[in-house]
Amino acid sequence: MVLGHEISGTIAAAAEGVSLSTGQRVAINPSLPCGECEKCREGMRNHCSNMQFLGSAMRSPHVDGGFRDFLVCDAAQAFPIPDSLSFAEAALAEPAAVCLHALAQAGDLVGRAVLITGAGPIGLLLVALCRMAGAARIVVTDRLEAPLKVALATGADHVIDVGNNSAGVDGWTGMHGRFDLHFEASGSGPALLDGLAALRPKGLCVLVGQGAEITLQVSSLISREIEIRSSFRFDREFGTALFYLGAGRLQVAHLVTATLPAAQANAAFDLALDKTKSVKVQLDFS
Ligand SMILES: [Zn+2]
Repeated sequence: MVLGHEISGTIAAAAEGVSLSTGQRVAINPSLPCGECEKCREGMRNHCSNMQFLGSAMRSPHVDGGFRDFLVCDAAQAFPIPDSLSFAEAALAEPAAVCLHALAQAGDLVGRAVLITGAGPIGLLLVALCRMAGAARIVVTDRLEAPLKVALATGADHVIDVGNNSAGVDGWTGMHGRFDLHFEASGSGPALLDGLAALRPKGLCVLVGQGAEITLQVSSLISREIEIRSSFRFDREFGTALFYLGAGRLQVAHLVTATLPAAQANAAFDLALDKTKSVKVQLDFS
C-alpha cells in the first residue's frame, strides 16, 4: 500500500460542480468518514465503522495514502491553503488536528501545569497548542537532547532529558505530584508511568502516543483520583488546525527539518528515523 497521510498539493482537475479550481493549493484531510454508520450518526465520526483514512491499514482493503504524484479525494477533504502558508506548513494541519483533538479531551488549559512526555512532532505541536491555550507551565521529557531543544524553541518552559538524567521526573512527583495534566506522546511505557506519578490529585492523563505496555499499580491512581482518557485521530479539528496555521497563531515551519525529492525516498526515511537530526522530513513529488 501507499503510505502518507500528511498531504498538501495542487488541484490537477476538479469534478463538475466542485467549487475548487485547477491549480488551487490545498491541504488534504486524510479522514473520510462515511457519514451514515451508527458511529457517524452519533457524532463520533473519527470512530466511523467504514472510515477511509488515506494511508491507513486499519481498513481492508487498505486505503492508499499520499506518497504519490496524484491522488483522487472527496472534495470535502480538500481545504484551500491560505497564501501565507507554504505547502510544508499546510501538510502539518493533520498532526496539528490530532493535537487539537487531544487538547479537547483535556478541557480548559488556562493556568494549568502540563507535562508532555515525548518531543516528537506530536509532542512538539502539543507544546505550541498548550501555550496558545493558556497553560501556565509546560514541561517536556524525551530521551534525546535535540528534540528537547526544539521543545524549548516551541514554547516549553522546562525540559527533562530522561535519557541522560536518571532522576527523570522525580523532582516533580512526591506525594501529590506537580502537574494538572499529562499528555503522553511518546508511546513509551516508562514515560506513561512517569507522567502518572507526576500528576496532582484529580489530575488527568491524555493518551495520544500508541504502543506503550505497562503494569499499573491501580491504588496509586485511586488514592489521587487520577483520570485517564485517550485521544484518537480527529474530525473537524482539521479545518481549525489549518485556520490557526494560516492566521500565524500556530508556528510550525521550524518543525519541517528537511524536504527531499520523492526519488530520494529511502534517504528521507533514514533521515526521518534519526531523531538527533530530524523532526519532520517531507517528500516532494512536484
Ligand atoms: Zn461512518
